[in-house]
Amino acid sequence: MIQEHNKFQVAIIGGGVSGLTLAVQLADAGYSCVLFERNRYPFHKVCGEYVSMESWHFLERIGLDLTEMKLPQIKEVRVSSPSGHMFSQMHPIGGFGISRYTLDSELAKLAKDKGVQVKDACKVTDLKFDSEVFTIVSEKGIYTSELCVGAWGKQSGLDNKLSRGFLKKQDRTQNYVGIKYHVTLDFPDDIIELHNFKNGYCGMSKIEENKYCLCYMTVAENLKKHGGDIKRMEKEVLYQNPFLKTYFTKSHFLFEKPVAISQIKIGYKSAVEAHVLMLGDTAGNIAPLSGNGMSIAMRSSFFLCQQVERYFKQQISREQLEKRYERFWKSQFRSRIRISGCLQYLLKNTALTNMAIGLFKRIPALGDKVIRATYGSPF
Ligand SMILES: Cc1cc2nc3c(=O)[nH]c(=O)nc-3n(C[C@H](O)[C@H](O)[C@H](O)COP(=O)(O)OP(=O)(O)OC[C@H]3O[C@@H](n4cnc5c(N)ncnc54)[C@H](O)[C@@H]3O)c2cc1C
Repeated sequence: MIQEHNKFQVAIIGGGVSGLTLAVQLADAGYSCVLFERNRYPFHKVCGEYVSMESWHFLERIGLDLTEMKLPQIKEVRVSSPSGHMFSQMHPIGGFGISRYTLDSELAKLAKDKGVQVKDACKVTDLKFDSEVFTIVSEKGIYTSELCVGAWGKQSGLDNKLSRGFLKKQDRTQNYVGIKYHVTLDFPDDIIELHNFKNGYCGMSKIEENKYCLCYMTVAENLKKHGGDIKRMEKEVLYQNPFLKTYFTKSHFLFEKPVAISQIKIGYKSAVEAHVLMLGDTAGNIAPLSGNGMSIAMRSSFFLCQQVERYFKQQISREQLEKRYERFWKSQFRSRIRISGCLQYLLKNTALTNMAIGLFKRIPALGDKVIRATYGSPF
């Protein structure tokens, strides 16, 4: 296809797993596509880096050779509380570990190889929809497209530009910060652990090259109370959990300083706004403890790609495309997000975590049922 300069069928804003997997699929289907990412690949990102097994075949099918990467396969989940109680359960489908540094940059390479115009180190600052055309203002120029996909993640200035509804409903007490390290230590390959501490939880599991991802989330207020000093908060709060104290004091830390983000909120936002089709975290955020955010992001890109194809083949109108996509989002993910939000409430609270651990130990089938409610089937 002859590509008119700066004019594309689809523009994708944000190059995380949702935007990149959509770009790869669209390129495979023969559509012209530009993707904007404000950072330069490869880069680190706050994430537990555990991918639910439901996405394995999808990633291999679009061209990522996961088998070749020899990634750790994670089969068991353990949950602990500061009083040292621990619950352990085999995960019904499990997952695999891969850093976002590797996953996102490999997907970006794949997208480029397939002909996607990947503009990294290129922030989008504005977008408008007029006369069936999107105009996208980026740090590297102005672009136009017929469809525009918002894949910019948890929050961006673009949400304000679009005056998105979720911004008006924000609850300040539900504002979280996320902190991530890569470490080496003596720990099993096939276990993911979640450790509760006051007002937060910390996950640990293996990724590639014998490294482990140690990543936690806590209410922003917790960090504020400790004068914004991450180390002090870790010593005074996280170390109350004996497992965390051991991991933090015995690990070899591979970063000079942690990767940190703020303004994490949990909940559904909207799948379509101002004709922009919202993908992954831009549409809604599942609680990180579910280890399902990346799979939701990829599954939504899988469905959206099919609908975009139908739109370009003139089988459905723009209005039908938007309605179908919105319906899909609500039916597939809203209950998963709600259940994981309840679990997060539980795992933030030490007394409730102790109670739940006791209950799940006595009735393992209940633990299994709860885990099953947070993930989907392979696609
Ligand atoms: C603490 C924590 C732990 C987590 N652990 C897990 C886990 O173990 N497993 C799991 O499956 N999920 C986990 N998640 C969730 C997971 O990280 C997200 O669901 C996933 O990254 C969503 O992908 P995405 O592509 O929608 O967004 P992102 O991966 O956030 O990608 C959005 C991209 O858009 C870019 N961007 C933003 N604004 C602009 C702009 N204006 N112009 C250009 N680019 C822009 C950003 O730089 C970013 O790269 C965790 C989340 C948190 C907060």
